[in-house]
Amino acid sequence: MTVAVELQDVRKSFVSKSSTTLALDSVHLQVQAGDVVTLIGPSGSGKSTCLRTINGLETITAGSIRIFGKSYGKAADAHILRRETAMIFQKFELFPHMNALENVALAPHLRLNMSRREALDRAEALLDRVGLKAHRMKYPRMLSGGQQQRVSIARALAVEPKILLCDEPTSALDPELVDEVLELLKSIAASGMTMIIVTHEMRFAREVSRTCHFFDAGRIVESGKTAEMLNQPQTPRLQAFLSSLKNL
Ligand code: ADP
Ligand code: MG
Repeated sequence: MTVAVELQDVRKSFVSKSSTTLALDSVHLQVQAGDVVTLIGPSGSGKSTCLRTINGLETITAGSIRIFGKSYGKAADAHILRRETAMIFQKFELFPHMNALENVALAPHLRLNMSRREALDRAEALLDRVGLKAHRMKYPRMLSGGQQQRVSIARALAVEPKILLCDEPTSALDPELVDEVLELLKSIAASGMTMIIVTHEMRFAREVSRTCHFFDAGRIVESGKTAEMLNQPQTPRLQAFLSSLKNL
């Protein structure tokens, strides 16, 4: 088996004049190629920071990150990290002045040096794949939240990443729009993509991921098979977290 992502003893502190926050505190994580894992845990526990370090959006304070066996520690390597990974954000982060097609075509054109024509052809095929061919000329403000998130998924796939990172991809959506995005992510997972997904949707976590990691206060405090972990949480902290969700 090939290891896609390996974090060893990763620490990340954010230092300001008045305080230091240890956002990641000795995190160990291993994800096999083709696996889908979910990260769960309370707000502020380090889930987004973990994804951002894997994507090279944050440098790490200590430890090491390997992507397909290649080691990255320094900020200078971030552009290489970003080549292997793509990220989907809670708030879509589409460019408002570009239509769906242009949003998806931008990265292949700029980052992969594709001609504009080739990039637009690729974008069109991807928008078809996410079910938005008919909406390709629309600007983000003309699309529903679910459609915007599907455009941003097409945009992430446009650079042919080896690893797809998803940070609460449905948290900003109205409840009736959640399923269209989750179904799309499930179909991408089924295609063999390596995925790391931060989610508050426990039903989705069960359906999409074999392995789950529970973050609390910057640490992974419980890991295991998703169904077993959610059915029989071992640590008091995961037990408390899951019952807090049920009480919502
Ligand atoms: P989660 O995604 O689990 O809600 P985050 O990874 O966003 O948690 O945050 C983990 C901790 O790091 C929190 O205490 C948060 O306030 C802090 N943090 C995150 N990003 C920054 C930043 N850019 N500057 C300072 N502190 C940050
Ligand atoms: Mg977060």
